[in-house]
Order: sequence, then C-alpha cells, then structure tokens
Amino acid sequence: MKIIYTLRKSKRARTIRISINHEARVMVTIPRLMPEFFADRFVKKNSKWILTNLEKVRLKGPVFQLKGSRNEYLTDKVRAKKIAEEKLAEFNKFYNFNVRRIAIRNTKSRWGSCSKKGNINFNYKIAQLPEKLANYLVVHELCHIEQMNHSSKFWDLVKKTVPDYKARRKELRNFKP
Ligand SMILES: [Zn+2]
Repeated sequence: MKIIYTLRKSKRARTIRISINHEARVMVTIPRLMPEFFADRFVKKNSKWILTNLEKVRLKGPVFQLKGSRNEYLTDKVRAKKIAEEKLAEFNKFYNFNVRRIAIRNTKSRWGSCSKKGNINFNYKIAQLPEKLANYLVVHELCHIEQMNHSSKFWDLVKKTVPDYKARRKELRNFKP
C-alpha cells in the first residue's frame, strides 16, 4: 500500500519526523539539507506505525462528529425555545388560550404535542423549519388547547390564522431537516 504524505522541509528540524494530524493527513518533516529520498525510505520503513496510527485517527473521527451534533442539538434547543415562545406569544394575542408551559424535546417522529393542561412540546428541529411551517406548527399545537382532536372545529380554529394550513401540513410532513 502506497502511503501518501506531505513533505515539509524545516530549518529547525534536527532529524526526520512523521506526524499525523486530526484530518488523518501524514506529514513528513525533514531537515532542510536532507535529501528528499530519505523521506520515502523512512515512510516505507515505518509504514506499519503510520497505518496503525492512521487507523486510530480514523476511529476517533466519528467521536468528533458526535460531539459536533450534540453541540448542534444544544444550540438548536436554545434557538427552538426562543422561536417557539415568540411565535406562541404572537399567535396567542389572537387566540388568547391558556398556555401553561413550553418545552423543547428531542423526539424522533413528532413535531409537537399538546396536553389538556396547556403544556406544549416542540421538537428542537422547529429551529430548522422555514418560517411558514414553524408558524403552522405553533398554531396547530396552540389550537389543541381548545380542541384536543383533529375535528373540523379544530381546523376551523387553525384556519383563522393559517388559511392555507392544508398545504403547509403536507409540506411539514414531507420536510426533511
Ligand atoms: Zn394535532
């Protein structure tokens, strides 16, 4: 197996050195006056060490990614709460229902839910929704405080602020965050 590496010449390097960065790139540093073929020879000689350590970096890779998505989730959660609160306040000026508590959850399949007591939950991905779908979602859950079903009475309530709710409902169903 041919190992691809980046060659660096350094004034300060006293001897040849191999390093692997977090992107799994192999770097060979040689003293400025050392002939370049030394690098090739050194890499061949140490190929086992390089491959073992490349594998370690690659195995670590997904761990960094997991960290990233956890942070993403927390950031979105904060944004989601703000969006949900603002929109609920805005639409509730019209409806004037009794909202008790808003919570943001990491639910797999649901965009939102509402309890009889007026506790409303939203999926944190509300932060990723286009404005008009987020508005529809908020109005949908808000109207469940008054109507805990999907009856025509419920849709009549939704329609008062989202006349094209049918199209938005369909769009939300097909939305892939
Ligand atoms: Zn519903």
